Amino acid sequence: MQSFNRLQRLPIYQQYFFQTIDTDEQAMELVLMLAEMAAHWQEVPVGAVVLDEQRRVIGMGVNHTVYSHDPTQHAEMMALRDASTFMGNYRLPDTQLYVSLEPCMMCMGAILHARVKRVVYGASDPKTGVCHSVLQHEQYAQLNHHTSIQGGVWQEQSAALLRAFFKSRRAK
Ligand SMILES: [Zn+2]
Repeated sequence: MQSFNRLQRLPIYQQYFFQTIDTDEQAMELVLMLAEMAAHWQEVPVGAVVLDEQRRVIGMGVNHTVYSHDPTQHAEMMALRDASTFMGNYRLPDTQLYVSLEPCMMCMGAILHARVKRVVYGASDPKTGVCHSVLQHEQYAQLNHHTSIQGGVWQEQSAALLRAFFKSRRAK
């Protein structure tokens, strides 16, 4: 059953969808606003955005696994589904995906299937990150000939949000 996408009903979604985002920093700013929504919903705060060739927002996502009872509802997956639905195509060859946390194996698989051109992420994930942390994307270069990856953009802000979330959860 397709879970209800709460994000699409929010003012932030309607405000930013199809808006042009000029810089990596502005894209990460939006990603972090989305991550804060996830935290508000008691989900691990990760946000993601997909931009098209003209740098317009065509997909947004937040981590949403708890609410949707769905282990695949990571921010990147939601943003890719959103973008693919909008484009009417599961291939997204001239897009860029921005995410606040280093993608996991599942999300990186979907990113490669979609042929996303470039991935930009904030904080490293030493437990499940497959760009540089647990695996290095150079190691699967044959799979990965479509996608370039850049980490550490707004790393501190992305990591601080996650730290604050886990600290407040431990305190409960
Ligand atoms: Zn993931």
